[in-house]
Amino acid sequence: MKGERPRWVVGVDIGGTNLRVGRVAVEAGGSPTGVRRSRTRPELGPDQVLDRVVAMIRDSVADVGRDSIAGIGLGAPGPLDAESGVVAETPNLGWRDFPLRDLVAEACGLPATLDNDANCFTFGEWWMGAGRGCRRVVGITLGTGIGGGVMIDGEIYHGASGGAGEVGHTSVDFGGRPCACGSRGCVEAYASGPGIAARAVEAITDGSGSILASLVDGRLEEVTAETVREAAAAGDRHAREVLRETARILATAVANVIHLFDPDVVVIGGGVANAGERLLRPLRREVGRRVFRTQMRACRILRGELGDTAGVIGAAGVFRRAHAAS
Ligand SMILES: [Zn+2]
Repeated sequence: MKGERPRWVVGVDIGGTNLRVGRVAVEAGGSPTGVRRSRTRPELGPDQVLDRVVAMIRDSVADVGRDSIAGIGLGAPGPLDAESGVVAETPNLGWRDFPLRDLVAEACGLPATLDNDANCFTFGEWWMGAGRGCRRVVGITLGTGIGGGVMIDGEIYHGASGGAGEVGHTSVDFGGRPCACGSRGCVEAYASGPGIAARAVEAITDGSGSILASLVDGRLEEVTAETVREAAAAGDRHAREVLRETARILATAVANVIHLFDPDVVVIGGGVANAGERLLRPLRREVGRRVFRTQMRACRILRGELGDTAGVIGAAGVFRRAHAAS
């Protein structure tokens, strides 16, 4: 092995709910190998999460030997500063002014890069997925939260503070539902997994008839976006209306993004996007009512192609890009 060029980059996707680590081929990219998944379990404390991430990376490195690893690409919830590798604030994980990149690099003895998890998703889909070959790509991740990333001419647009592309905190109602970020009416408060579940439950307590309650044995606090999808698939009218409204709310945010960036493609990923065309078809229709015809003709709205390892692939891609010369 000695003297050979390293063949792999370890890609790491640190989410509020799940951790994913895998090795991506430096030259070819593509699906990661040796993928490890674990729950994030932020309730155990910020140091525990870091320790587990480091352990997963070390295991991944040990699989193939250190000489064949070029380095580590990290994706984490932001706001964060990609240049200094410091996470400014993640209320979910309890990190504040946390020098994540250097801590991981030191603990693993390998060079590392750090970028926002939704930026990594967008980079991955641009590099290897639904946004391949496109000059202007907006990525949106629908999960526990709603993340976003903007790429222009093959570069992630970070903005002045590193906070660009936060689609989830664009507002769809100026006096609307309170959001965890402190603002109101953020699309995340409506169309994230917990947002969808909360709206479905509120409507039931307001008296709508639905099979949702029976799906969770009356324990309404256990309703998730997945339960709503299940009820909709079984023909439940209330659940279907919640999903139709979700599509309209998301479409409002997507239309705002199209007015701002006029992209070639909007790629939508994350767990909530598993609803597929049932979500995307009404979403496209509603976006069409809210943007100029020329914009709509130029822009495709697609589901991500890389599944739940898009962030791992993208994080590795960001590392590869940063170390292209080495
Ligand atoms: Zn917000």
